[in-house]
Amino acid sequence: MKKRDYYEVLGVGREASEAEIKKAYRQLAMKHHPDRNPGNKDAEEKFKEAAEAYAVLADKDKRARYDRFGHAGLGGAEGFGGFNPEVFSDFEDILGTFFGFSFGDLFGGSGRPRTARRRGADLRFDLEIDFLDAALGCEQEIAVPRLENCPDCSGSGSKTGARTTCEACRGQGQVVHRQGFFSLSRTCGKCGGAGTIVRDPCPTCRGEGRRREVRRLSVKIPAGVDTGNRLRIPGEGEGGQQGARAGDLYVLIHVKDHPLFRRDGPNLLVELPITLPQAALGAEVQVPTLEGSSRIGVPAGTQHGAVFCLRGKGLPRPSGGPRGDLVVSTRVREHPFFRRKGESVHCEVPISVWEALLGARIQVPTPAGEAVLVVPPGATGGQVFRLRGQGLPRLAGEGTGDLYVTIRVEMPTGLDARTQDLVRQLERLMPTEPRAALARFRGGGA
Ligand SMILES: [Zn+2]
Ligand SMILES: [Zn+2]
Repeated sequence: MKKRDYYEVLGVGREASEAEIKKAYRQLAMKHHPDRNPGNKDAEEKFKEAAEAYAVLADKDKRARYDRFGHAGLGGAEGFGGFNPEVFSDFEDILGTFFGFSFGDLFGGSGRPRTARRRGADLRFDLEIDFLDAALGCEQEIAVPRLENCPDCSGSGSKTGARTTCEACRGQGQVVHRQGFFSLSRTCGKCGGAGTIVRDPCPTCRGEGRRREVRRLSVKIPAGVDTGNRLRIPGEGEGGQQGARAGDLYVLIHVKDHPLFRRDGPNLLVELPITLPQAALGAEVQVPTLEGSSRIGVPAGTQHGAVFCLRGKGLPRPSGGPRGDLVVSTRVREHPFFRRKGESVHCEVPISVWEALLGARIQVPTPAGEAVLVVPPGATGGQVFRLRGQGLPRLAGEGTGDLYVTIRVEMPTGLDARTQDLVRQLERLMPTEPRAALARFRGGGA
């Protein structure tokens, strides 16, 4: 058979760049790869042909010789059997990531030894656990579906435990085809690369050596684990083939949220709602902790968002070392009467129309108790009075903020005939023109 032109094989022009050659080869290799075309001789030939063309055209020296002398330039002593190892690693670079195979499997060239007995695969198990279980540590039962070695044949797949050498590959696990200077070595189809076969298959596993089981395991979760932590349990992955070592099990931790606690590394964060009087006057309050609760003293004048740190009340570290801290941030609750603005406090107090007209001394509530507000005669609704020092105490005893009282004048309602008559008399006595000043705005004038 006449050898095809290498450029023609890859479908590129003679002036093609290295990148174009690589790309063309990759496409052909993917298309004709034996793993994708099992038993297809034509595809295998095409694959080898493309690999051969690439091995030459990707190598500057060989390409130059080929360009000058054609196939004759490459023959002779060097032959083709000796792959340029650089090009060889390039192959793996190009293809290894697509097929996860080693070129040594396909071309006998590298001669790397095959391991007939394959270690079992590692398994991953996603485990969701409660916040407190993660924080304090626990023991969890998990059910892992996996391939296990058959107990009846101890994973050998054979009823008597005997395996005989595979005659197709003579125990090598690979079969080598030679085609001229080109040799192709592939995993033996008869024994699957093991080199041995079972003549008397175990009835339990039908010669597989392994069977699918759900394995119940008790896993010790160390205190302080966090989402994303991985626990490795050696030997609890899938069973190895023909009695080889089992893989490992990796338990990936997912920690559920907690209604009160959040975490920041080893520190435990909790929000502490307190009332305005507690913030104003100080108080002893209960703070939830991992183990239950603790009492802390909230000093007088505590601000919204003030942070207290309880050393060593945070999370344990799975790797050991000192526990983190409990970081308590206070939240001053909304008050039904007082509104807080920094250290000053605002409220609205209703007064009667008579108090507004005549003036009065009235008792008003303050965060710390009560105080007297002197309403001057003729006070109007919406007027604001400041009571110095009746707001919230400042921290560290630096005085106290102020209380701002807004007056609301309550008008009497449901007047009877007699009171209506009295109000009319009052009107005649004190005629007022409250809208006199608006006259100049009539018709939009200014
Ligand atoms: Zn074989
Ligand atoms: Zn068995």
